[in-house]
Amino acid sequence: MKTIIEPFKIKSVEPIRFTTEAEREKILRFAHYNPFMIPAEDVLIDLLTDSGTSAMSARQWAGIMDGDESYAGSKSFFRFERVTRELTGFRNIIPTHQGRAAEKILFSIIGGKGKIIPNNTHFDTTRANVEFTGAEAVDCLVEAGKHPEVRGDFKGNMDLAALEQTITRSGVENIPACMITVTNNSGGGQPVSMQNIRETKKLLSRYGIPLILDACRFAENAYFIKLREPGYAAKPVREIAHEMFSYADGCTMSAKKDALVNIGGFLALNDDALARQARNLLIVTEGFPTYGGLAGRDLEAIAQGLEEIVDEDYLRYRIRSVEYLGERLLAAGVPIVEPPGGHAIYVDAKRMLPHIPPHEYPGQTLVCELFRAGGIRSVEIGSVMFGRYDAATGSLISPPMELVRLALPRRVYTQSHVDYVIEVAEDVARRKEALRGFRIVEEAPMLRHFTAKFEPLSVK
Ligand SMILES: *Cc1c(COP(=O)(O)O)cnc(C)c1O
Repeated sequence: MKTIIEPFKIKSVEPIRFTTEAEREKILRFAHYNPFMIPAEDVLIDLLTDSGTSAMSARQWAGIMDGDESYAGSKSFFRFERVTRELTGFRNIIPTHQGRAAEKILFSIIGGKGKIIPNNTHFDTTRANVEFTGAEAVDCLVEAGKHPEVRGDFKGNMDLAALEQTITRSGVENIPACMITVTNNSGGGQPVSMQNIRETKKLLSRYGIPLILDACRFAENAYFIKLREPGYAAKPVREIAHEMFSYADGCTMSAKKDALVNIGGFLALNDDALARQARNLLIVTEGFPTYGGLAGRDLEAIAQGLEEIVDEDYLRYRIRSVEYLGERLLAAGVPIVEPPGGHAIYVDAKRMLPHIPPHEYPGQTLVCELFRAGGIRSVEIGSVMFGRYDAATGSLISPPMELVRLALPRRVYTQSHVDYVIEVAEDVARRKEALRGFRIVEEAPMLRHFTAKFEPLSVK
């Protein structure tokens, strides 16, 4: 088999800045060892997130020039609405400025105290928007999804028994909707099978509970179904995606992921009465229903991006690049969440740096070392992001996993960039015993990972 190459050529380039190790040590010190405080210009390879970091195509840029900025009834809205409706099959398409705005509007209507929203795993903004209304966000992920070293085809699947238990225990009347997140971002970008979506829908139908997809990475999920689920190998991804959507009653979407744009999102709903309420809220918080917090040009770019994302040459390259990075890291003795997900590799820092205990932040240690050694920016998903303090003893309560996420922006980096990342990680892995942990010297009471300041326990 030949190398799977980037299915595009490059028309416009953006230089990246090379720095020396000495410069990067200074940059790290200035940023208090927090990657969120490093100026992007000082980063060589930025794997902080795949959100809003996609490279747009020439056609998307052409759409930007062609955008119709009319306040009401812009032609760009009608194109966006047509493309989204054809892809998803949903009746009402409501543009928002990001995915979380769609969540905010949906849960403002259906959430509230005493309500429960199940999901395979709530993404953090989804959970925050559910909880902000006083409702409870419950995760019902299959057991395999909780074990990074266990290989499985669909580790993002909903645990149907746990879901049914949640329904019967909480009372159907308290569950206004159930969500499935595709792919499961917080669970390592692992896909959900068509069978699981179908069976979830069947179970929910028995109780009359609607299903809403958190569809941010629907195309990556559809491609995994094509690769791994019997009966789908010959089906076009577009049809697979359409079938996924057909089991749902609506979706929330961050266009910053699988719509290949830098800003945007939407809420889609079959229920006309619910959509009417959503549009009323949209007018108060986002804008008129034919632009919803976006410019006409953004709607053009999203419409074009949704056409491009289901291209199978693109998806083959996309999923293969992530898998390639994962395979090479494993070969270098770097433990990762297996198998590789759709948009990122999650390094298991707990297993890689067992000499650094959770309260000395092994994930943060690896994040800093990847930057120091190679100018690579990544993010900790472990005790820094999710750690809490015991109210009585003040000691740190750590989450089960200490991960470092290397998220791959879409269409931005080539194989040689990925090879470079692998070389840096190999170098760090060879010297891992010498790495020392960090302590937090300043932190905010909520979402501390964005602003916390760190100090090395001993600089190596
Ligand atoms: C990014 C993301 C969101 C939120 O979207 P924003 O556009 O960042 O507001 C919701 N759910 C999942 C699974 C995501 O990855």
